[in-house]
Amino acid sequence: MIESMRIIGAGGRVGSAVSARLAERGVLLDADDPELVLLCVPDRVIAEVAGELQLGPWIAHVSGATPLTALDPHVRRFGLHPLQSFSKARGPEQLDGAWGAVTAESDEALTVGFWLGEVLGLRPFELDDANRAAYHAGAAFASNYLVTLRAAAGSLLEVAGAPPEALDPLIRGVVDGGFELTGPIARGDWETVERHLDVIRAERPELERLYLALAEATASVAGHGTAKLQGVPRTESPLKVERTISGLRERLSGRRSGPVGLVPTMGALHEGHLSLLRAARAENETVVMSLFVNPTQFGDDGDLARYPRDDGRDLALAAQAGVDIVFAPDTTEMYPPGFQTWVDVTELGAILEGRFRPGHFRGVATVVLKLFEIVRPRRAYFGQKDAQQAEVIRQMIRDLSLEVELRVLPTVRDEDGLALSSRNALLSPQERERALALSKALATRDPDAALEQLRSSNGLEIDYVEAADFDPPVLAGAVRVGSTRLIDNVVLEGEPK
Ligand code: AMP
Repeated sequence: MIESMRIIGAGGRVGSAVSARLAERGVLLDADDPELVLLCVPDRVIAEVAGELQLGPWIAHVSGATPLTALDPHVRRFGLHPLQSFSKARGPEQLDGAWGAVTAESDEALTVGFWLGEVLGLRPFELDDANRAAYHAGAAFASNYLVTLRAAAGSLLEVAGAPPEALDPLIRGVVDGGFELTGPIARGDWETVERHLDVIRAERPELERLYLALAEATASVAGHGTAKLQGVPRTESPLKVERTISGLRERLSGRRSGPVGLVPTMGALHEGHLSLLRAARAENETVVMSLFVNPTQFGDDGDLARYPRDDGRDLALAAQAGVDIVFAPDTTEMYPPGFQTWVDVTELGAILEGRFRPGHFRGVATVVLKLFEIVRPRRAYFGQKDAQQAEVIRQMIRDLSLEVELRVLPTVRDEDGLALSSRNALLSPQERERALALSKALATRDPDAALEQLRSSNGLEIDYVEAADFDPPVLAGAVRVGSTRLIDNVVLEGEPK
């Protein structure tokens, strides 16, 4: 029917498989005057590429989501979408047996589309252009979301200490077995489903919503209805996430009748953060948690890039802790181009941590003042773990007459004494073992004895161990373990305020 074609995008995933197959079938490719031009280009450039092509030959695209109008002004046109997930590592055999959706506006175009599908080794079928969205949503479920399910399932196997790749033959077995439903929901075993939910809430809270949605959908596939699941307690909360300053201000404007508590964090939440969130929840009508890895308090870009991040988990934990609003701006929202106004707590910001991290407290004070101004909290919550940070902020509040109550909560530690820190996630098991020397040395509450102990510990580089006359006074220390820097302190007298 058609003897010569030109393929635009022949180097891409679909284009390379299609080109190889057409070459096998003896179709002349790259002819000067092709009878059919096939666009194997990304969806977003189809219209642009089509617009540049001369009218005359047939023109077709291989997109599942793109309507035929993207091929304007061409009228001899159709779409042929191979329903397959292509890999560049494989060749034309990927087309064999896959179905191909042909979208056309005339019988002639439909005939050409079916011809091309068959030449490629596909099983062509007709798809109405108006029904593309439903068709493509189905395809996304079957292919893209299967990848998501594999990632979610794999992370739970990791929790169990089992190899995630053990799931792959299971997935293939379900497909090869014709999608027969087995397992607890098919059996109506709701106790097991509740045990799943318990461990998910404890270990992978970010998966709870996904699990519940799938369990409900699966109950309906099994013909059980969802009544049982509706009895399963849910921890979903009305948490709102705001990414812009104006959005946050607007949301807060309706909640000013009672006190607002602010908990600034850089994410990768642990029990230390959660203790602040719980205190804020108990004392305020509205709790705002900021989630912003503040670049201006990092000395070098490598440290910033290494900082652990897990927004999905953080949002789930914030929701569980009863946070009302998470403020998670991007860097340009907080530091628009041309930003040049800084808060420098000159003396307190220059000692201890300030000596080893010049500019660190300038970054901290600036972002905290900005957060205070955006959120205008009655109370703001910080951890004693970062004693100097709390002291710097106390000084800033006093110097600038800010109307906010500073609440500093005790350091939360692991059972062995190591202060919880987001950076602990960066430690290898051996490094974590070595890091314990810091809390042990500080527990002597004696600067000389602490320094002595640390000097005799292997694998640590000491930045400082010093008593500081903060409110309350502390013995503070900083060490480097491998490429991770850790700080800690113990209160020498009185209770943290
Ligand atoms: P970060 O996300 O590291 O900026 O910490 C956010 C807040 O949590 C700061 O006020 C920290 O002082 C506080 N924080 C961090 N670790 C702990 C901990 N182990 N115990 C109590 N508070 C902590």
